[in-house]
Amino acid sequence: MPAYPAPVLLELLRCPDPHHAPLAYDREANCLTCSQCDKVFRVEDGIPVMLLDSVKEE
Ligand SMILES: [Zn+2]
Repeated sequence: MPAYPAPVLLELLRCPDPHHAPLAYDREANCLTCSQCDKVFRVEDGIPVMLLDSVKEE
């Protein structure tokens, strides 16, 4: 059972890129996707990994 980030935390999350676009949470993949640049951020133990270095290019 993966740990999910708290909804209140998800609302505050923004892309670390300069556009700071809101992120959409994909519960099935347990990752966050930027609504603007489509970068994907992993969530580990309920903690979003917001480092640009960890971005998975798709
Ligand atoms: Zn972005």
